[in-house]
Amino acid sequence: MRFEHETLSQRVLFGTGAAATHLVAEVARLGARRVMVIAAESEAAIAATLIEGIDVALVYTDVAPHVPIEKAEAARKAAAQVDADLLVCIGGGSTTGLAKAIAMVHAVPIVAIPTTYAGSEATNVWGLTEAARKTTGVDNAVLPVTVIYDAELTLSLPVELSVASGLNALAHCVDSMWAPRADPINQALAIEGVHALSWGLRLVVMDPEGTVGRERVLYGAYLAAVAFASAGSGMHHKICHVLGGAFGLPHAQTHATILPHVLAFNSAAVPDIEQRLADAFGSVTATVGLDKLRADTGAPTALRDYGFTEADIPEAVQLILPNIPASNPRPVTADNLETLLRAALVGAAAGQ
Ligand code: NAD
Repeated sequence: MRFEHETLSQRVLFGTGAAATHLVAEVARLGARRVMVIAAESEAAIAATLIEGIDVALVYTDVAPHVPIEKAEAARKAAAQVDADLLVCIGGGSTTGLAKAIAMVHAVPIVAIPTTYAGSEATNVWGLTEAARKTTGVDNAVLPVTVIYDAELTLSLPVELSVASGLNALAHCVDSMWAPRADPINQALAIEGVHALSWGLRLVVMDPEGTVGRERVLYGAYLAAVAFASAGSGMHHKICHVLGGAFGLPHAQTHATILPHVLAFNSAAVPDIEQRLADAFGSVTATVGLDKLRADTGAPTALRDYGFTEADIPEAVQLILPNIPASNPRPVTADNLETLLRAALVGAAAGQ
């Protein structure tokens, strides 16, 4: 075995029902005096209950998907105006993304309290959208110093969005297996993530009001994000990145829809990885395992349901193709990428 692996430094506090207590302790530990809380309007009610025990300089709610540059600049200005010394982001990946956009220019630490399974809180990756093009980059200044996980905070996430968001996390795991910096450490995290997400999501669907499944999905989402941050973006993420940035498709649903197609495309070329994923799904093959999970949880199937059209395919192919990593197990051409996108557009069976 020979590999290079870097582990990011971050404190993780995991406990159902404990987020408010953990937040008070973290703010005190970090000695913060001017806390800027970031939460979207739809996350404001969750945030309000969590911040009762801390002094807050500003609650900021102007959050939008994929972090438009104008929103980032306005938030940076607001942070500077209150001279924020700690950012507390409470919400999904869009909210975490806005905190990261501030941290990358003002070097303010972040405490992240995620309310979806997107996983941005455990990565040092930032994303910004300008003129319909999404740019991402890596900067350790945007890695939250602490993540506070509390499954109760995801109870209000509707089942459909919980499933899509959990499959977004699953995509981090699957893509990590063949991403440019895939190694035995991040692959091990990814495989445990597949196992946790696969069973956790079924429990969420069976009992959306319970916290057992949601705890498992949060745990899996964290593992998935750590694996992804370490392994980098593979083919799946490069596709979804373009679809989100250039065509405005919703993040979690796009990942959930594309994943079976990328798995079917790549898995035959990497039988050892295919076998490990199959075992993690508890299935005969990885693709059968994912298909079964998707059927059991009512996962989204077709990109056309989210505004993508046949006319968008040529531009999408052109934008995606140059970004496919050389590490991808199977060569990607304009033709096979177009076939994949056509299948994802209408929700055809993967790998046909
Ligand atoms: P999101 O943050 O846009 O949330 C989706 C919707 O759900 C929003 O309306 C939000 O307010 C609402 N919501 C969030 N939590 C809720 C809850 N508990 N109950 C009810 N409603 C709730 O979507 P997302 O999928 O979490 O994140 C997507 C964004 O995160 C994308 O921009 C993506 O690029 C980014 N992301 C970044 C990384 C990274 O490493 N940088 C990783 C994953 C995702």
